[in-house]
Amino acid sequence: MSARPYNFSAGPAAIPEEVLQQAAAEMLDWQGSGMSVMEMSHRGPQFGRIIAQAEADLRELLGISAEYHVLFMQGGALAENAIVPLNLSRGAKADYVVTGSWSQKSQLEARKYCDVQLVINAHETVNYSTIPAFSQWKPRAEAQYLHYCANETIDGVEFHDLPSQFSLPLVADMSSSILSRPIDVGAHACIYAGAQKNIGPAGLTLVIVHREMLGHALPVCPSAFDYSVVAKNNSMYNTPPTYAIYIAGLVFRWLKRQAEEGLTGIAAIAERNRKKADLLYRCIDESALFANRVNPACRSRMNVPFFLRDERLNEPFLQGAVERGLLQLKGHKSVGGMRASIYNAMPLSGVQALVAYMREFERSH
Ligand SMILES: *Cc1c(COP(=O)(O)O)cnc(C)c1O
Repeated sequence: MSARPYNFSAGPAAIPEEVLQQAAAEMLDWQGSGMSVMEMSHRGPQFGRIIAQAEADLRELLGISAEYHVLFMQGGALAENAIVPLNLSRGAKADYVVTGSWSQKSQLEARKYCDVQLVINAHETVNYSTIPAFSQWKPRAEAQYLHYCANETIDGVEFHDLPSQFSLPLVADMSSSILSRPIDVGAHACIYAGAQKNIGPAGLTLVIVHREMLGHALPVCPSAFDYSVVAKNNSMYNTPPTYAIYIAGLVFRWLKRQAEEGLTGIAAIAERNRKKADLLYRCIDESALFANRVNPACRSRMNVPFFLRDERLNEPFLQGAVERGLLQLKGHKSVGGMRASIYNAMPLSGVQALVAYMREFERSH
């Protein structure tokens, strides 16, 4: 098989090739069962093993204690924007930190269910280019939770320190950064993530929620979205996205295999992610043609937006990239320019190939 191109998509995003190959090999007959995973009853013994193993591996990777439920849900992070306040706000007050396009969407949706206050609105002050200092945050003591987005996929802004000094339960959208580095799950009341960035295929949403947060869903909350109902039924109140859970499980196994030189899988991948991001930002900062507008202290390690100083070069840049096997580099439509998403599945060699192309393009333009 010839080498596959490097895929810089923001999501649905690249999946490790080893995982795709294993899924292909098991497509028609999963481990002698005579069935594809897609064809199995979600309540049968085979799928029971698949989901239990996936949960155990995820718990090990992220150090998730028994105090937390791991829920396999559907609807993506945008559905969680409603599901979180439906479950956790008690129809009262909730505080939101807006550091980019996704947290802005989160707070707008939450307003349907509770009294929302913005602790920070980085658009009004800094146009989503930095995270205002925690000392400026003034959350309400009586708020039910404090919501933030760990990594703004579109704007390229990431928290490198946790906003954990506030006494409120912390809720995080980690759609585009989960499993990219070790995280302190214990500092959070609830973490959610759509799978299609750094976990697996679209259709699966992961929720990690502390037990004590459950049991306060608003009466209008759909049963399939009530965390206590989902937890009580081991994510099988309704049919879960079985195939996506299976692929996520293979990705978790792949992550565990990345362990090296005394580092756990997550620590090893985090180190690789730091190297990849450093290489790309250095190339951008040293260039007279390319620019990134985010404060270096909160630049994302997963999503690197950059602009060409001459916009007329956008199309030729993208065309040359495709010719070199560098796919899906076009920036989000709301910000323009370019965006390289370099999730766990992107090898260092992919970033090296991109940097080599950027240098070559700058020399010839
Ligand atoms: C992609 C993304 C979303 C939207 O996810 P859906 O699965 O499309 O609902 C929300 N938040 C963040 C941080 C994302 O990266």
